Amino acid sequence: MRWVQKLVDFNFKIMYRSGKQNIKVDALTRRADSVPRSFEDERCRYQRTTILTSNRMKIADLEEEENDEPIYRLVLEANRINEDCILLREAVLKGEAQYEGTKLRDCRVQNEILYRGDLLWVSFDEHLQMKLIREVHDQPSIDHSGILRTMKVIRRYYYWPSMRKTIGRYIRNCYICQRSKASRDKFNELLHSLLIFEQRWKDIVMNFIIDLPSSEGKNVILTVICRLSKERHYISCFTDDERTTAEKTAELMLQ
Ligand SMILES: [Zn+2]
Repeated sequence: MRWVQKLVDFNFKIMYRSGKQNIKVDALTRRADSVPRSFEDERCRYQRTTILTSNRMKIADLEEEENDEPIYRLVLEANRINEDCILLREAVLKGEAQYEGTKLRDCRVQNEILYRGDLLWVSFDEHLQMKLIREVHDQPSIDHSGILRTMKVIRRYYYWPSMRKTIGRYIRNCYICQRSKASRDKFNELLHSLLIFEQRWKDIVMNFIIDLPSSEGKNVILTVICRLSKERHYISCFTDDERTTAEKTAELMLQ
């Protein structure tokens, strides 16, 4: 499993190389003095081991997989019939550089399928995108890796605008990732409580209670609380985004 994780970063080809040509490896692994002499040798005994025995496999999972439509075919089908893809295809065929904010650079249409370069375009179907990310992110060779690695694998075949954002959101909400990944935050210091002054009204807390129904032209309550005595004042006022400035608030306080 470890090797699979390493190899997933590369585009590799597995080729057969006959023993005769593979002298270097032979020299390293088959020193004459270390060749087992009989099948009783311990090294022979452990050369073939079945790791995934049938009792360890979840048959139900495999059956479900079989009935499920492969994700590639689902993406292809969505690309063919979903309205967003149809509109984008039309725009690409007209030679437009973008369609309603979606950039169409390097896009092409082949056999009525929209591609970006060699990558298959994934429709703006959130359910489909999530299914695709889950398929990649949860598979054993990726095994809940971070955003970059998951993205790298998906970007080999698929594309959709702001895919990094979608993938990031999926991974941030992934239950297994959240449970198993250690926090990489810097060590958090203990909380320090704020100083409390010995004099009343020297240290105050203010807050606006907003979005209240309008009454006599006022729709906001400014609360001012003394942190020592917990005495409080409520100041009714009117506010909108433009007029609620620090200056205005100071004026209210002074009134
Ligand atoms: Zn995960």
